[in-house]
Amino acid sequence: MSNDAISRIALELSRLPGIGRKSAQRLAYHIVSMPEEDVRTLASTLWNGRKAVRFCPVCFNYTEEEQCAVCSDETRHNGQICVVREPRDAAAIERMHDYRGLYHVLGGTLSPMNGIGPDDLRIRELLQRLDDSINEVIIATNPDIEGEATAAYLARLIKPLGIRVTRIAHGVPIGGDLEYTDEVTLSKALEGRREM
Ligand code: ZN
Repeated sequence: MSNDAISRIALELSRLPGIGRKSAQRLAYHIVSMPEEDVRTLASTLWNGRKAVRFCPVCFNYTEEEQCAVCSDETRHNGQICVVREPRDAAAIERMHDYRGLYHVLGGTLSPMNGIGPDDLRIRELLQRLDDSINEVIIATNPDIEGEATAAYLARLIKPLGIRVTRIAHGVPIGGDLEYTDEVTLSKALEGRREM
């Protein structure tokens, strides 16, 4: 790619997931045709949004406050923690309005092939949350190889503590992203969770 302004915009956009070289170029041409004020708004929304969002120190979901909306809601402290891979997975579960417990975001799944081990995930932080107030950990990692391996690993750690460990049912298509699973399927998957 050459080094003119349009190419530089396209290069940055092409770093985003799901944006190929062609789409990046099309967007770059569109951006330079937009009114200056609209581009300023777009750029500052991205920048300010990025600065505003941080991790909840309890569950590691995204928040703009001291703690996320779920952790700071007393009615959500019902003894359940649902473990997910990423913040957007928690968002998918929130959208169905069925689940009333807490979350814990791992920040990934175990993946020996990619060099991601237990210390790279927020597993220690999860174990620290498992006091007397917690009676069930629901593992909602994706039903792919890494998600299953992570679930099995967590069950081995948590069950000896006398806490119930469950796994969401396989209503979710294998290898399918939790995020893209429709709300009815997700609701059934949670309802039909099984003991690990
Ligand atoms: Zn939180």
